[in-house]
Amino acid sequence: MSRNLVVFDLEMNQGYKPFNFSYHGVEQTFRGEIIQIGAAKVDESFSVVDTFSITMKPQIFRKLHHHVAKVTGLTQQVINAGVSVKQGMQMFLDWCGEDAVLLEWGLDDVPVLKQNLVLLGMDENFPKDWYDLQQMVSSQFPPAEGEKMNLEAVVERMNIPMERPFHDALSDVLYTCDVAKRLDVAKAFAEYPSEESQLYAALARKGEIRDFSVYHGQIDPLGWRNDPEICRGSCPYCGGELKPDEFWSKLASNSYYSLSVCEKCKKEAFILFKLSRRDGLHWSFARAIRLCEADTLAKWEKEKKGAMARRERKDKENEQR
Ligand SMILES: [Zn+2]
Repeated sequence: MSRNLVVFDLEMNQGYKPFNFSYHGVEQTFRGEIIQIGAAKVDESFSVVDTFSITMKPQIFRKLHHHVAKVTGLTQQVINAGVSVKQGMQMFLDWCGEDAVLLEWGLDDVPVLKQNLVLLGMDENFPKDWYDLQQMVSSQFPPAEGEKMNLEAVVERMNIPMERPFHDALSDVLYTCDVAKRLDVAKAFAEYPSEESQLYAALARKGEIRDFSVYHGQIDPLGWRNDPEICRGSCPYCGGELKPDEFWSKLASNSYYSLSVCEKCKKEAFILFKLSRRDGLHWSFARAIRLCEADTLAKWEKEKKGAMARRERKDKENEQR
């Protein structure tokens, strides 16, 4: 069965002041309001079958940010003459079809698309499936040291004629298709890492892990440590329940670890979390257990001591006030 592949790109307007909104009770910062969508339906070899292009009038960030104007070449008059964002978005969804598999350059546009759908009261479950072409290209054509992976740099590196502007949504989409034509497409899809495998690799980077689980669709960004159903693990020695310490140390970006003690055999193990947020609205929490090594334990204990001392100092300062 052939897939309904849609390569797309967005241009968005920024506010001069941040705009926050609540998503099921959790505050989110709006990343930008979509003012232009460009898209192309492609076959499995990235030949363009149909194109879509629309410019829209923003309702939240009404004034075109001078930086956006400079990068995109859009003007206040041009966006004011556009259809409403809601109308334009509906036209895009209708054109795509429900089963569309979206492809974008980088992973920034799907979260923006979904945030805009939420604010418009539309279905943020679209798209269900999406891929990052930048990642596919960078895995088959790894950049040499110092080489950039932005679209313009890659187009230039591949000697693709640069006769259209960059940062015009449809023009960027057509460049993206030109780049993607160089891919071994079947291989790119087959080798595309799942969210699970990326989370696993991140947690297993510094040592063997066990008891790996992923919790998808989480809204509370602190749910990984506050939800007792998630923040637990199984003892590698006896299978009993592990109870983590209150103190969590940072392992890497969006990744934390703590020392846990088995409630049954009283032995210790590390409990690790890695968080990701692919759709910009929901978190996935990956959890794993790692055996205690002396050096990591010493590091964790030192960090805990430092954190405790800082907290004590702060409490004292507050008392003195
Ligand atoms: Zn145990």
